[in-house]
Amino acid sequence: MRSSAFAVPAVAALAVAGLSAALAFAAQANGPAKPAAAGHHEVYDYDHQEAWQALHDKSQSPIDIVTAGAAAADPAEPRAIEFSHTHGAIDKVEDNGHAVQVDTHATEATIRGRHFKLAQFHFHARSEHTLDGKHFPLEGHFVFKAQDGRLAVVGVMYEQGKANAVAQEVLDDLKPGKAKPAQPEIDIEGLLPKAHGYYHYLGSLTTPPLTENVEWYVMPAPVTMSKQQIDGFLSHYRRNNRNIQPLNGRPLIRYEG
Ligand SMILES: [Zn+2]
Repeated sequence: MRSSAFAVPAVAALAVAGLSAALAFAAQANGPAKPAAAGHHEVYDYDHQEAWQALHDKSQSPIDIVTAGAAAADPAEPRAIEFSHTHGAIDKVEDNGHAVQVDTHATEATIRGRHFKLAQFHFHARSEHTLDGKHFPLEGHFVFKAQDGRLAVVGVMYEQGKANAVAQEVLDDLKPGKAKPAQPEIDIEGLLPKAHGYYHYLGSLTTPPLTENVEWYVMPAPVTMSKQQIDGFLSHYRRNNRNIQPLNGRPLIRYEG
């Protein structure tokens, strides 16, 4: 599935990132379903990441979250993350050549007092962020966008344990030959931890063009999936996690939730 080719289509090079490409794809959601990794999809070679180049490279993601190095969030400012309308229609579930991705837009989030809307979510194996050096088998990235274009990504860690019904819906929708999702709707609450504590820092997209000024909120409370479900995601990607990047003195903020 993985190719050594590294191609960035014009749409991604022009704007804020792979995310813009994702949004552009979302706009084509009514078009015919495309086979995985075909056509305009981007494919990244995780075995040769040194070839990836960022325009600015001092504030990159992912990072190792050294929990002892995190400062408590300022109690004088709004700190919580609250999700609403987690249940909504699915536009697309696909293996896009670099991740398993679900396009669904109903969910809204209030993040530290500001309003964001969900653009898509996708999965990395192993986790991209580490907690005190520890990887999890999977990390979900819930990509939120504010009206002014600001991006906030909520990172969720998945560990082996009880089966996850919502993860199963995503996996079922990935079976070959499915032009449309079997489930027209999804409730992503089952993919989010109950505890909304987080580690926050300013970083980047973790795929080319690695654009910076992305707000990261990594939630350390893991959510479970069964071994079979984790293996289901691994059957698409054994490795699509970017290497850990240096913190370079950036503030890391802790919020207990
Ligand atoms: Zn990601």
